[in-house]
Amino acid sequence: MDVAADVVVLGHGAAGCAAAIEAHDAGARVVLVDKMPAGLEGGNTRVSGGAWWEPSSAGRAAVYLRSLCGERPVPEPVIAAWAEECTRTTAWMREVVGADVAVVPGTLDRGIAGTVVEVPPEFPELEGSDAVTGWRAVGGALGRSRLLTALAAALARRDITVLLGTRAERLVQDAEGTVVGVQVTDDDGTRTIRATGGVVLATGGFEGDVRMVRDYLRLPQTLTWGSPHNTGDGHRMAQKAGADLWHMDNMTSIEGFGVPGFESGFYARFSFRKGFLYVDADGRRCVDELPRTGHGQARVHGAYEHVPARSLHAVFDEETRLAGPISPNAAMLPVGWNVLVEGYEWSWDNSVEVEKGWLHRADTLEDLAPLIGVDPELLVASVARYNAACAAGFDEQFGRDPSTLVALGAGPYYAFTSAPMVAWSNGGPRRNEHAEVLDPFGDPIPGLYAAGGVSTTYSWCKDGGMHIADALAFGRIAGRRSAGRGISARSRD
Ligand SMILES: Cc1cc2nc3c(=O)[nH]c(=O)nc-3n(C[C@H](O)[C@H](O)[C@H](O)COP(=O)(O)OP(=O)(O)OC[C@H]3O[C@@H](n4cnc5c(N)ncnc54)[C@H](O)[C@@H]3O)c2cc1C
Repeated sequence: MDVAADVVVLGHGAAGCAAAIEAHDAGARVVLVDKMPAGLEGGNTRVSGGAWWEPSSAGRAAVYLRSLCGERPVPEPVIAAWAEECTRTTAWMREVVGADVAVVPGTLDRGIAGTVVEVPPEFPELEGSDAVTGWRAVGGALGRSRLLTALAAALARRDITVLLGTRAERLVQDAEGTVVGVQVTDDDGTRTIRATGGVVLATGGFEGDVRMVRDYLRLPQTLTWGSPHNTGDGHRMAQKAGADLWHMDNMTSIEGFGVPGFESGFYARFSFRKGFLYVDADGRRCVDELPRTGHGQARVHGAYEHVPARSLHAVFDEETRLAGPISPNAAMLPVGWNVLVEGYEWSWDNSVEVEKGWLHRADTLEDLAPLIGVDPELLVASVARYNAACAAGFDEQFGRDPSTLVALGAGPYYAFTSAPMVAWSNGGPRRNEHAEVLDPFGDPIPGLYAAGGVSTTYSWCKDGGMHIADALAFGRIAGRRSAGRGISARSRD
């Protein structure tokens, strides 16, 4: 083995950085590897809002998480560890990472500024939703990689070996199955890094792997909002080492679409507050277009369902085209791979994207229909029925909020096909409250830990900021736990 460490962390996102910092500060020798080269490391954390939720108390957070999981319960010790650790994130970011942290304006803040309720919890009807106290972020602002920058600076201030452009390929196990290292590949070839304390999987989700997306999320294609390089590598390594899996059917999807030349997708419908409708593959209107949606789930006919879960055609008119970008540009929402890494600036009136052919345009609905492959008569009838609902102020078909019912006017008309864009997957190697990866019999695989997108805590519903919170919380837990194991192994030698 060429390099030795107590803890080897795979992945330079929020979870990996938190694990590396915490393991180092506990006294461990730490190596962190990321498969991407400098400037592209950081996965979804790089292009995220970077905001984390902070609960009012561990007790209320636990109640809320239990409610969010609903019929898909998560073990109580995991809930307790998550709740307790989440209450510590802001202090950890300030004191250990050294970041300037503030409440993101427009989110609820009871802790600092009184009782202003500007953005309510996404599931206010659930018990425990009073735990929501708004979002915290570096600099009190969303996006622009501020969180990753702060975490990377904290790594750099420490004696932590960071190897970018270094892909983890396989875990190395001894005869008893204990994980003792990891095989990595970089420009110089393949080598093994020994880990006396353990390996922390922080490789993000599988949203960029088409086979896993098909198998587990039942979607035909991959369409990522974040890094297209989160391809389930950690999942495969963990499975090969004997891990059980959990939450594999859970995801956070939003409306999006892919265009030629871009590996990731564009968040679509940002300016769609009112004048538009969705039609199905045949041209029929088929859903309430604007249900109250949390992060990936909405309450549909009394049950929490994945929304969006299938592709639909969005149809709108000239007024909506001129109402603002269909996909937010950096000035509006500085998040997402195409916005922050590719640097794409969507035009304010969508004219550039119409010109490119990304948005279809036709003078009449009859002419628009073939451009999206739907039946012209059904499309015309769907718009007529939708417009009648707008005139009546009542959507008898799908119960859309009357305040959003704005009729489509005269042509020209526009359309694009909106697919469920997997912002991130939620499932991965099953782990316990110590971030230890479990085998199918519930026993920890010695020396293997997981945190963040590779294995989130969330079995079903989740609120804003909970994913960064989860990555930072279980990253810290994994770092401490693996460091303790490594240091005691070293002291025995
Ligand atoms: C557009 C967008 C906005 C978001 N905004 C928010 C928000 O505001 N709040 C919130 O809570 N959540 C948000 N999320 C979700 C959140 O970003 C993620 O859940 C979180 O960043 C996951 O962190 P992570 O460290 O687990 O994974 P990532 O940040 O995805 O990092 C994984 C890392 O592992 C590396 N890697 C993968 N495979 C290998 C391998 N084989 N070897 C070595 N390295 C490997 C990748 O290159 C990457 O650097 C957002 C997500 C997106 C896409």
